[in-house]
Amino acid sequence: MSNNASLRVIIAGGGIGGLALANGLRRAGVGVSVHEREIERTDRLQGFRIHISPKGSQALAELLSPQMFSTFISRTGKGDISFGFITEQMKQLLEFDPVEPTNNPAGGDRYGVSRITLRQILLAELGDTVRFGSMYERYERRQDGRVVAHFANGTTEIGDVLVGADGGTSRVRAQYLPHAQRIDTGIVTIAGKYPLTPETRDRLDPVLLRHPVSVIPPTGCGLFVAPHEFDEPTDDALLGATAPPVTGALFDNSQSYVLWGFGAKRAHFGADLEALDTGQLHDLAVRMTEGWAPALRRLVADTDTDTVTLLPIKTSVPLDAWETTSVTLLGDAIHSMTPFGGVGANTALRDAQLLCRKLTAVDRGEQPLLPAIHEYEAQMIDYGFAAVRTSLRAANQSVSDNRLARTAGRLVFRTVNAVPPLRRKMFAGLGA
Ligand SMILES: Cc1cc2nc3c(=O)[nH]c(=O)nc-3n(C[C@H](O)[C@H](O)[C@H](O)COP(=O)(O)OP(=O)(O)OC[C@H]3O[C@@H](n4cnc5c(N)ncnc54)[C@H](O)[C@@H]3O)c2cc1C
Repeated sequence: MSNNASLRVIIAGGGIGGLALANGLRRAGVGVSVHEREIERTDRLQGFRIHISPKGSQALAELLSPQMFSTFISRTGKGDISFGFITEQMKQLLEFDPVEPTNNPAGGDRYGVSRITLRQILLAELGDTVRFGSMYERYERRQDGRVVAHFANGTTEIGDVLVGADGGTSRVRAQYLPHAQRIDTGIVTIAGKYPLTPETRDRLDPVLLRHPVSVIPPTGCGLFVAPHEFDEPTDDALLGATAPPVTGALFDNSQSYVLWGFGAKRAHFGADLEALDTGQLHDLAVRMTEGWAPALRRLVADTDTDTVTLLPIKTSVPLDAWETTSVTLLGDAIHSMTPFGGVGANTALRDAQLLCRKLTAVDRGEQPLLPAIHEYEAQMIDYGFAAVRTSLRAANQSVSDNRLARTAGRLVFRTVNAVPPLRRKMFAGLGA
């Protein structure tokens, strides 16, 4: 691609990966449009917090403008971003050393951020690059190698590259790689948000307020707990109105809270989960934690029922490399993984960073298009599906009903806890 014939990139899906890529391409002067089916936050997952790893924040620092990356830093959760493992009786298994982000403008720190806030930041400088309410349907490849994308509203767009960033149920993937599979793991999570006010804060054990912890009972289930603290209420106006406001505690990204997620195999719940309303799901989560330490039971019981959400856990099945064309995929559209380990969004950000570098080189005439996409896909398939495997292993371990394995796992945590160099090594690998 020569400089006088600028590259045109069409991105289907304006989630974390698609929007991050669009930011980077736009800043590099590459022609890009994003087609997002939603016009407002309707996905309940949007209401929750997300962990950004060192690699994820490096990608954001590279793709966002310096001002917007600094806005990102200012809107992340405050305090210690370390991690711990405890038993269901609140006995310590492993406690990593306290860590505060250094807020390096080049990224590399860990952060906790509300998904809504992250989305606002990713949208803030994109203006009309993003077409909301534009549902991608299918593509066709023209003889000259260009791609025509078709949308549900009857419009089409022609580009040099089509990037499927349309999440786990990707239509781009369904057409392009029909043999790719995304399967149910049989694991289900019930999640909720405990609101933090001066009164509710006093009722909670400080261990649950310090930093995220994973609760490991002797068998069959696990509970993830993550506080999300703001210094001051977020002023959405500063970021521009990027989506119509949705009310309710679930979508509130200005009030501090503690997020929890109770995960187990479907059979463990003994109920038809999909048939339950939020109140019944909440009651079930309370029942499932009977016999646990009062502090954990209080966290679950005193949660705002409106925020309680059912999340069936799915994963992609790793694929071999395919023949490279001008259609490619990123993020959950190709390597969707379980939320265990908190790596899906970080991997989508890594994809966006790498693909942005490759497409920018093409736009500048430094590399032909297909070899550039091929190099991206070769690396992405490698680290993306490695993350899928690691995440599935973590998911299975966290709901394992093998008592012996659980006891051994808890022993490993206690051993690592007693050896500071091991502790530091393990922490460095978290979410990587
Ligand atoms: C409970 C839970 C907790 C998690 N926590 C973490 C965490 O802490 N850290 C982490 O790294 N990851 C986490 N993840 C994973 C993370 O949410 C995903 O990996 C990440 O959102 C993937 O980004 P994406 O851009 O590929 O897809 P998405 O963010 O899903 O975006 C896809 C976008 O495409 C749009 N779209 C879909 N179809 C179409 C269409 N046909 N036309 C137009 N637009 C379309 C959707 O509306 C959406 O906006 C978690 C996941 C879950 C379920």
